[in-house]
Parts: sequence; structure tokens; C-alpha cells
Amino acid sequence: MLELQTPVQFVKGVGPRRAHDLAAKNIHTVEDLLYTLPYRYEDRTRFCRVSDLQPGAKTSILVEVLTTSLTVTRKSRLKIFDLSARDKTGLIRCKWFHSEYLHQRKIFRRGQQVIFHGKFEPDPFGTGSLQVINPEFEILDEAVPIQGSIDMGRIVPVYEAARGLGARTLRRLIHTVLSELSRVPETLPVAILERHDLMDRRAALQESHFPSAETPGEDLAARRTPALRRLIFEELFLLEVGVRWKRRLARNARGTPFHIDPRLRRTASNFLPFRPTRAQERVLDEMAEDMRQATPMNRLLQGDVGCGKTVVALQASAMAVENGAQVAFMAPTEILAEQHHHYAGRLFARSGYRVGLLTSGLKKMERRGLLEELYQGKLQILIGTHALLEPDVAFHKLGLVIIDEQHRFGVRQRFNLMNKGAHPHTLVMTATPIPRTLSMTLYGDLDVSVIDEMPPNRSPVKTYLLDEPKRSQAYRFIADQVKQGRQVYVLCPLIEDSPKLDLRPARRIFEHLRGQVFPDSRVELLHGRLKSMEKDAVMQRFAAGQTDILVSTTVIEVGMDVANATVMLIEHAERFGLAQLHQLRGRVGRGCEPSYCLLMQGAGTITPEGAQRLNCLRETTDGFVIAEKDLAIRGPGEFFGARQSGLPTLRVAQLLRDRRALETARKEATYLVDNFESQKSLSQWVAGLSSGWQARYGLVGVG
Ligand code: ADP
Ligand code: MG
Repeated sequence: MLELQTPVQFVKGVGPRRAHDLAAKNIHTVEDLLYTLPYRYEDRTRFCRVSDLQPGAKTSILVEVLTTSLTVTRKSRLKIFDLSARDKTGLIRCKWFHSEYLHQRKIFRRGQQVIFHGKFEPDPFGTGSLQVINPEFEILDEAVPIQGSIDMGRIVPVYEAARGLGARTLRRLIHTVLSELSRVPETLPVAILERHDLMDRRAALQESHFPSAETPGEDLAARRTPALRRLIFEELFLLEVGVRWKRRLARNARGTPFHIDPRLRRTASNFLPFRPTRAQERVLDEMAEDMRQATPMNRLLQGDVGCGKTVVALQASAMAVENGAQVAFMAPTEILAEQHHHYAGRLFARSGYRVGLLTSGLKKMERRGLLEELYQGKLQILIGTHALLEPDVAFHKLGLVIIDEQHRFGVRQRFNLMNKGAHPHTLVMTATPIPRTLSMTLYGDLDVSVIDEMPPNRSPVKTYLLDEPKRSQAYRFIADQVKQGRQVYVLCPLIEDSPKLDLRPARRIFEHLRGQVFPDSRVELLHGRLKSMEKDAVMQRFAAGQTDILVSTTVIEVGMDVANATVMLIEHAERFGLAQLHQLRGRVGRGCEPSYCLLMQGAGTITPEGAQRLNCLRETTDGFVIAEKDLAIRGPGEFFGARQSGLPTLRVAQLLRDRRALETARKEATYLVDNFESQKSLSQWVAGLSSGWQARYGLVGVG
């Protein structure tokens, strides 16, 4: 008999080789295998007939193999494997590129019954029959009768195939496991099962892999059968309990309360050369209130590019310094760290605070001197890149940790920096707005503040979509802006010539603009391969207004703050992600002059997603709307980058698709973790989970 924790090599049909292949897919135990769900289901009780095929639709057909051949195209020496097959109603052709193994290993034979799945299209050579390129296929076993087969005559699960592991092999293994499984302990508390009418775990696993005949295909495709609903809820619930639990731990920590009286609160604003916005004032109040408590502040500050987060963070720094504490301020790039350092230096010029800059480019001697001052407490504010995380960076009394653009860092890095003090107050900032439903999961252990107001006198950036024929018009517009004394960014995706990608590389564009288009203007080039000294010099000249047009790669993305820059021209705009485009656009519109973002599309065809992104950017400047859209286009996996977010990778649920289940799961989880009477049931419940699950969802040590 198999248990959930049984290693896969004890499953019938798994030898050392297969165990190895499974491990490569992160499948180590019977449980892992069972939580590898099909990515689609196929109703094999009836197939589409060849004569009924709809061109362009994804379909499965059952046909008999007629002929196969391997051809090599004359021009590009491309090897194509060709197969023709038929059912009673007609002929189809299948083509594979780069799949000589099909030929060499004689995978197909005449007369075989095969299921092909893919998009059938009219054959471009006009033979009249439909063809499909690189279809999925499954060759039927002649020896096995359809009656009682797990591959035929029923709704069949189709798994993502991997090296050495065909969809069919996985189906077989999972079927074996399900029939030999001894006991499946329930993961969810009984009360919750009843309240939400959830299926029992064992039945849910069975039905999710091998749905009974009457299950509607749409429900399977939308992942809303009772069985799948139960597994989705289970995963989200465990995730939320983990999030809530970590929050509880954070709330139980004891740090150092700061003394912040009205006078200090005023001082913090007196540093500024302008009046803070109401949103900035509110957020600073929230932070001051946090830092007065012994429970360390754990706050996320969200706000669009340019809304003035850095300023607020520096005000909070002043409060810390006045309390005799040190501040660590970490930014994702050198350029950004330098800019913060520069800015802080100006703000605190008359306060007597010592502000240091630590990057990996620092000379050994300077570095040693800086760290010595830090350790002795003579340096109050240390700004830097991830260089701050180095083990020899030791503080005298670290009281406030600030992390800028936190989505660029992992959770572990945040904790590493925090561990350089005794439960310091912590502020993390991001200009990548996260829709609220998700931010509560992603940043569940943080309180959230939002700056939803821009400093006065800023007009929103006007955005235009341009193509190659409009280029000269764009250049005339730029020339005009330069004549008015404004500055311009021209952004390019890559530096060097790259024939494969066909991108207009920064260097060529730079030469062209400087030599031919704007011979009378001051044009400079900035890219990531410059030495940091050179980079600095280029940036400083631009910031000082000594450069008119800065051709750059994305190194400026989060770095530059030049109010006189009014035009951002983005080459090959369709190649960038939405969040990145939004950030880049945020480099202009920082002063009171009207600003413009020119999105130049490349000459080639644009993917539908690319077009969607550009349209979205043209339609709105609201970061939250853009984030929602980004999420919808890319899906949460890519949006967050699972590793970065600190969330376990989800196996069944999807945060976006399953938002409603997520809400319910969060309510139940919050109740379970926060409610005093249920503390006993919480620890009992956690004790009932396997250690693997406890670790996965961060529940180790509960109760
Ligand atoms: P963020 O970090 O949110 O992108 P910053 O803090 O870098 O924004 O601020 C962007 C620019 O706006 C900076 O040049 C800053 O000096 C300026 N700024 C910030 N707050 C105000 C304000 N209340 N009034 C005028 N200018 C402001
Ligand atoms: Mg910033």
C-alpha cells in the first residue's frame, strides 16, 4: 500500500531512471505526483471527424496512420517530418519541425491508431486537406481493449509531458497510485469543509485526475468542478494561514519604540524645500504612529513613480536619527542608490547627519573607512545597493530599514537586512502597484500605505503610439523641445548590433542621432557596460542640463529624476513589459512643463500581447489600472516572479483566476489564526499536516 509520503521509487513502474526524471519535475513523493494535475482534459468518448474539423480551432482527432517521410528543405536545410493519416471521412497531414527522432526511432507505423491534438489549418500547398504543425499525439495500444482503458472511451487527463515522461506515462503512474493509496488524511478542518460544501480530499484527488463521465467539459476547462474547487481552496487556505501566521509572528516581535513628539514631526517636514502633499503627510503620520510602538513597523509604501515616496522615506529616516538610531536604505541599482545619496545629502545638508553610500564599486580603503564609521555609530544613514547585505556590514544601532523598489529584491534579502539590527522598524517601497486582492496575500505580513496623489503642478504625460513612417515627425518634435530648452530621453532595448533580434541598437541610434539628425545638439549615450565612473559622469551631465538628448538602455529605468526632461521616446516599445514601460514613462512629467511619451513600434509584426500593452499604456497613466492589466496579460506567475515574492509556487490554484476562492480562504484563515478560542484547533490542525506541507506553507512552529 502507498502512503502520501511514500517516495515515488516505490510506485510500481518507477525505476531509478524514471524516479530521476520525476525528480527533475520536482516530484519526489506520491503526494507530489497526485498534486501534478492535468493541464487539460480530453473527452475521448467521441472524437471530431476529419470532415467536421473547423480550421483554426484546437481539436483532437482519432485517425489511422498512412505514410510518413522526412524531407529537407532546399533553401534553409530545415528537416521536416511529414505524416498523413485518415479516418472514414477524410485525410489530414501532420508536420513536425526539428523532430528527426520521430523518423529515426520509427515512432509511427502504417495502420496505427493515433490521437492528434492541435490547431488544424488549411494546407498552404492547396492539397485541400487540413494540416497541423507539431501536434501533441498519443499512439493507442492495440493490445489493450477500450473497455476499462484509462486512455480511451472516457474523459482522459492530459499532463504536461517532460523529458522522459510522456503524458501517457504520468497518467498510468497516477492511476496506479490512486488505486493503491491506503489512506489520505484530511487537510482541512471539518467545520470549513461543511461551511463551504467542499469535497473530501481523497475523492477530490480521484475526480480531478479521472473525472466521472457526466462531468461537463466547460467546468473542467474552467477548473470549477467540485473536485478541482476543493483542491484550489485547500491550497489557497494553507497559503493564507501561512501568510497570516507570519504576520502574527511579526506582531509579537519587540523592537525599540521611537520618541516622536509634535516638534520632531514638524522638523521632519521642515527639511523639505517644498510642501509635502496631503498623501505624503498622511503616510508619514501612519509611519510615525508605527514607529512609536514597541512592535516594529512593517510597512509597505505603494505609490506611482514620482509621487514622492523617497522624500517620505527620508523624513522617516530623520525621525530615526533624532532617536539616536541608524538607517539602512537599500536600492536595486547603483544609479538609484547614488541618486538617493545625492538627494539625502542635499536634504540633510544643514542637519549635520552623516550620510554614506555603499556600492560594490567602492575602493577597498574607502569601504573599510565607511564600515568603521558605521560600526562606531558615527555614520547615521547608509544608502546602498545589495552591497549592504554583505556580512561585514555591521551597524552600531540599526533602527530603521528602508528598501526601495522592493519587488526587485527577494523576501530573504529583506530579512537579511533586518537581521543586522534588533527588530528594526522596516519600510519597503514599490512603484509597481499590486491589485488589492493580491497584495494582501503577497504582502500579508505588512501594513500598506498608499500615496495616491502627485505633487502639484504636474500634468499627466501625453502618450503617443508611432510607427516608422512617423519617425521624422517625432524627430522634428524633439528638435523643437530641445530648442525650448527641454531635455529628451531616447530609450533602446539593446546595446550592440544583434541581427537575430533585429533591434535598433542603442549605439547605432546614438551615432545616427548625433551625426545626422541632431548635429547641433548635445547627444550622449548611457548603457550598462560603461564603468560606473563613466555612467556617473554621463548622468551628472544630463542632470545638470549639459546634455540635450540622452540615448540609453534601460539602466535609467528606475534611476533618473530630471525635472527638465519632457520627452521619452521608446524604441521597439512593443518589446518591453507593461510595468517597465510605465516606469520608463515615469522618468518624464517630473516638472511643471507638459511632457510626452512617444512609443515607437518596431517594423515587424507585433504580437497581440504587445499591441495590448501599448494600447493600455496609451489609454491610462494610472499605475493600478496598468498593474491589473499587466496581471491579466501575463498571469500572476510572471507578474510577481514566484521566487521574488516569497510565495510558494502554487500547484493547483492561480491567484488571478481564483480570486474569489482566495477571498474566502483568507477569511477562514484569518479567523483560524487570529481567533483566541481557536488557537488550540489551529495547532491541532497544523500537527495533522505532514511536515512537508508545514514547511511549504511556512507553518513550522505553530502552536
Ligand atoms: P518616487 O520615489 O515616488 O518615485 P520621489 O520621492 O523620487 O518619487 O519624488 C519625485 C520628485 O518629486 C523628486 O524630484 C522630488 O523632489 C519631487 N517631490 C516629491 N514630493 C514633492 C512635493 N510634495 N512637492 C513638490 N515636489 C515633490
Ligand atoms: Mg523612488
